[in-house]
Amino acid sequence: MDCYFEQGPIRPPSEATSLLIRVTRNCPWNKCAFCRTYHGTKFELRSVEEVKADIQAMKDYADKIIGLSWKIGEGGEVNRSVLSHIYNQGLFDDYLRTVAAWLYFGGENVFLQDANSLIVKTHELVEILEFLKEKFPNIKRITSYCRSHTAARKTVEEFKQLKKAGLTRIHVGMESGSNEVLALVKKGVTGDIHVKAGKNIKQADIELSEYFMPGLGGKKLSRQHALESAKVINAINPDFIRLRTLHVVPGTALEEMVKSGEFTTLSDDEVVREIQIFVENLDVRGAKLVSDHILNIMEELEGTFPQDKEKILASIEQYFALTDNERLMFRLGRRSGLLRKLEDLNNSDNYTKLKSVVDSYLAQGRNLDEDIIKIMNNYI
Ligand code: SF4
Repeated sequence: MDCYFEQGPIRPPSEATSLLIRVTRNCPWNKCAFCRTYHGTKFELRSVEEVKADIQAMKDYADKIIGLSWKIGEGGEVNRSVLSHIYNQGLFDDYLRTVAAWLYFGGENVFLQDANSLIVKTHELVEILEFLKEKFPNIKRITSYCRSHTAARKTVEEFKQLKKAGLTRIHVGMESGSNEVLALVKKGVTGDIHVKAGKNIKQADIELSEYFMPGLGGKKLSRQHALESAKVINAINPDFIRLRTLHVVPGTALEEMVKSGEFTTLSDDEVVREIQIFVENLDVRGAKLVSDHILNIMEELEGTFPQDKEKILASIEQYFALTDNERLMFRLGRRSGLLRKLEDLNNSDNYTKLKSVVDSYLAQGRNLDEDIIKIMNNYI
C-alpha cells in the first residue's frame, strides 16, 4: 500500500491518543522567548487538497485495518489482538501503525496541527473539517491550537461556522495575562487580546482550554504574573485552565536572558507559591484546573471551580508542610518519575530510596538542584 500522510512535531498532552492532522506547517509567529519547537523552520500553509489527500490516506489505512480485523476473526473491531498482529508481523509501515493505534484508542479524537491552524481561512478549514467528518463519521472531538492574536481577529460567526463543521475545542497558549510578562517573552499579544480571543471562542460555544505558564514572570514579575493571569482567566471563564510550568530550554532567547541576568528563574517552591496566588485569585465557574504536563511539580492541583478551590489550596499547604529535605525528596521523586503526587511519598519504599539519595548529596555537599534540572532538560 503506497500511502503517505504528514504529521507535525507536537500536540497538547491531552491529545496523546488523538489522530494528528497537519493543516499547516510550523508556527507563523515563532518568536516566543521560551519556545524552540519550531526554531529554524518556516511557516507554511498547506493546501486544502493536500490536507484532504492526507485524510483520504488515513481513511484508506483505516479500511485496511478493519479489513484485517475481519480477516483474523475479530469482527472489524480494532482490539489488542489486531494491534499485536500488526506490530508483531513487521509487515506494516509506521503510517498504518499510527492509524491502528488511533482506532484502538477509540478513533474519536482528532488534533489539527501545527501551532496555529486557525490561521487558515475559515471557509477552507470548514471544507477540511467537513471532509474529515465525512470520512470518519465516528469522530466526536476535533481540537486545535490557536494563537489569541488569530482568535481575536476571527469573528464569532466564523467560529460558529467552524463549530458547525465539527471543531469542538481550541487550546490557547495564554501563558500570562500580564502585559509586562507577555512583552518580556515576546508573546506578541496583550491581556486584552487574550480576553477578546477567549470570548470569541466561548461565544461560539467551542470548548476552550487556556494554558497558564507558572514561572514565566521570573522572580521580578512573579506576583504580577499570577494576579494578572487570574484576572484574564476570570474575564474569559474558559472550560479548562491548564498548568504548563516554565522550564528554560537550552538554545532559547530566554536562556540568554537568564545568562545575562535579565531573567531569574523561580525555584520549585516559588513556583508553587505563584500557583497558590493564581488559584486564590481565580473566580471562575465550571472551569477545570488541569495539571497534566510532566513539567508541573504537583499533579494533584486539579479540580473544578469553585467547588474544588479549597481542596487545591489544601494540597499546596500540604506541600509546604513538608520539611525542606522532604520537599527536596519529593521534587527528586517527581522529576525522576518515581512519584506523581505528594501522597506517593507516604510509600515507605519510595521514602527510603529518595531519602538515601538526598542524604548522600547533602553529605557530599553536592548540588541536587543542578541534577534535577538536567533530568528536566530530557523532558523537552
Ligand atoms: S506561538 Fe507557540 S509555537 Fe509559536 S513560538 Fe510561541 S509558544 Fe512557540
